[in-house]
Amino acid sequence: MTPDAIRSLFDAQHRASRAQPDVPVAVRRERLLRLRTLLQEHAPAIAAAVQADFGMRSPRLTEVADFFLLRTQMAQTLRRLERWCRPQRVGTPLYLRPARAWLQRQPLGVVGIISPWNYPVQLALAPAIGAIAAGNRVLLKPSELTPHTSAKLADLVAKAFAPDEFCVLQGGPEVAAQVAALPLDHLVFTGSTAVGRKVALAAAANLTPTTLELGGKSPAIIDADCDLKDAALKLAHGKLLNAGQTCIAPDYLFVPKGSEATFADHYRAAVAQLFPYFAGNPDYASIITPRHLARLRDLLQEAQGMGATVHEMTAAPGTPEPPQQTLGDGIARQMPPALVLGATGQMRLMQEEIFGPLLPVIPYEALDDVVRHINAHPRPLSLYWFGNRAAVRDEVLARTVSGGVTVNDTLLHIAHENLPFGGIGDSGWGAYHGERGFLRFSHEKPVLVQSRWGAGKMLYPPYGARFDRVMGLLRRLM
Ligand code: NAD
Repeated sequence: MTPDAIRSLFDAQHRASRAQPDVPVAVRRERLLRLRTLLQEHAPAIAAAVQADFGMRSPRLTEVADFFLLRTQMAQTLRRLERWCRPQRVGTPLYLRPARAWLQRQPLGVVGIISPWNYPVQLALAPAIGAIAAGNRVLLKPSELTPHTSAKLADLVAKAFAPDEFCVLQGGPEVAAQVAALPLDHLVFTGSTAVGRKVALAAAANLTPTTLELGGKSPAIIDADCDLKDAALKLAHGKLLNAGQTCIAPDYLFVPKGSEATFADHYRAAVAQLFPYFAGNPDYASIITPRHLARLRDLLQEAQGMGATVHEMTAAPGTPEPPQQTLGDGIARQMPPALVLGATGQMRLMQEEIFGPLLPVIPYEALDDVVRHINAHPRPLSLYWFGNRAAVRDEVLARTVSGGVTVNDTLLHIAHENLPFGGIGDSGWGAYHGERGFLRFSHEKPVLVQSRWGAGKMLYPPYGARFDRVMGLLRRLM
């Protein structure tokens, strides 16, 4: 797509948004229903495109992690749309009565969305649902690393929407950079922290407000009083969903000193329960590209070379041979999970977001050490705590700051429709989902309507005794 073509699509959306700043609820609902139909009718074809992009990625994984979340968001949005669009009355202080006031929720105009490859449907369309519900036009630039999915979305959206309502721009970083440099009314970027910085700088030139959904190292903590077996299963699930290529995957784990070996046994059993084998297992996703796989292998090798012990998981005995027919080199990119004991801060494994099926396990003696470590590093997108002692849980919640938290499980806070989802600091800013998403893409315009009985004129010049009397009265009323 040429820079001129991108600019002219933006111009068309911008013109349309300025020509119709007030988008009736019925128009928004009809657009959402079109998107819902698109998803309902084409979910299998979209899931097949995702699978083609990954090599190995179960359509059932796409069903639970992409479509299910979109369906729940869509259902909630359609249910609440009317209420969310209504002006919100606010109380008026005594000194301004009998004026009335409300917040009028209006569309921002044109919302840009730049999305990543790991959940290529959900992370492209969840912000779009929020933006469309709020009455905006949407320009979406999905990831170049999932070209089949991006092309499918572009095709389906072009058939269901006018280009000045919603359109998909395909292309690589250069197209994304151009989108980030457009004078959008809002830009949602989901991706790495490094690219997020560039996006924030580009958007700042136009004073475009941004929502940055970034990555980072999300810690998990196991308390001394904890069902280790249950925690190991939930951590294995959270870590290995999509082979660890999940922004909110538990990145590394703190366990009480002395329990590393027991945890490792439980983790190995949990992995065997979820994925009895890896190569050729349709439930276990491929690493997205050979380059990403090579990076993960490097992390592991470096850690090993620097003294860490790597427990690579192997297929259970008697598991089937990998099927002959492969989807590209997908099977070659199904990286076996590994636990890493003895990882240190000098290793890249403990410096970079892992984004793969490797779990460093760090023993701790005192909770203070865990909290100090977390607070000495960039604020994480998520934090997970496992245990039975509410007082310890509350201490961790109070003493750490993260984008979100799930206690005694992993990932689930993203699926709660009434919890805003987003990061803080290096893991991003701004949150969406549910009503928070609707508000993120709306302008809440404060409106005050003066009453004919309003006494404001009593404070007009010329200042004198009347002014002093009224001001004295107001001061006593405060
Ligand atoms: P990425 O930052 O490499 O790419 C994301 C998008 O940015 C792509 O569409 C890409 O084309 C675009 N892009 C590249 N250069 C750009 C530029 N100069 N200006 C504007 N856009 C540009 O990220 P990725 O590898 O696709 O995704 C993995 C990362 O995303 C991980 O760090 C992960 O934690 C994070 N992530 C965060 C969330 C979240 O909700 N917080 C969700 C998923 C992934």
